[in-house]
Amino acid sequence: MPTVVVATGNPGKLKEMQVYLNDLGWQLELKPDAIDIEETGSTFVENARLKAAGVAKALNQWAIADDSGLEVQALGGAPGIYSARYADSDQARIDRLLRELAALNDRSAQFVCALALANPSGDIVFETKGICPGEILLEPQGTGGFGYDPIFYLPALGKSFAEMSPAQKDAHSHRGIAFAQLMPDLKKLALE
Ligand code: IMP
Repeated sequence: MPTVVVATGNPGKLKEMQVYLNDLGWQLELKPDAIDIEETGSTFVENARLKAAGVAKALNQWAIADDSGLEVQALGGAPGIYSARYADSDQARIDRLLRELAALNDRSAQFVCALALANPSGDIVFETKGICPGEILLEPQGTGGFGYDPIFYLPALGKSFAEMSPAQKDAHSHRGIAFAQLMPDLKKLALE
């Protein structure tokens, strides 16, 4: 297996993706900043495909992309694919979400992660989607993770994502679920 470019500029995501990808023994490279693929899709899967294919073609290398975000039931699925564009910083995104949910009783939400792997011609070879259901807390809890982690709570574990160890989050998160689904295919490819 040649070098695989990880098509993300988000350091939090990259750190989590590397845990899974390191297991494959692939040579990993980070997407150069100069290559910026516009996320014009209307679903997580479409955007993951666009990012993987765009980066792969631009560099003539294998590329793997993650498109992910938070869907809040009482907000009709928002911020969804617009999770990164919801406000200017992690803190501002959390503040906005808590403000919009303040008068609503239903706090149920889910994190979604779509993964896509493209070959150097830009063809999508594998893709999958992982979903992690949970609840939005009334206020942030915990200091780990990134993004919306401090307000996303898993009742089964009694913890927010930001209160989990990296290994615990990997075992339960939307990204962990998506990678677990994709891993058998990625392992086969790694052997070729
Ligand atoms: P993307 O880079 O367009 O896929 O945007 C993802 C958005 O969802 C960013 O705002 C992230 O902070 C957020 N996000 C995705 N995955 C996670 C996660 O595991 N924890 C917290 N926030 C996440």
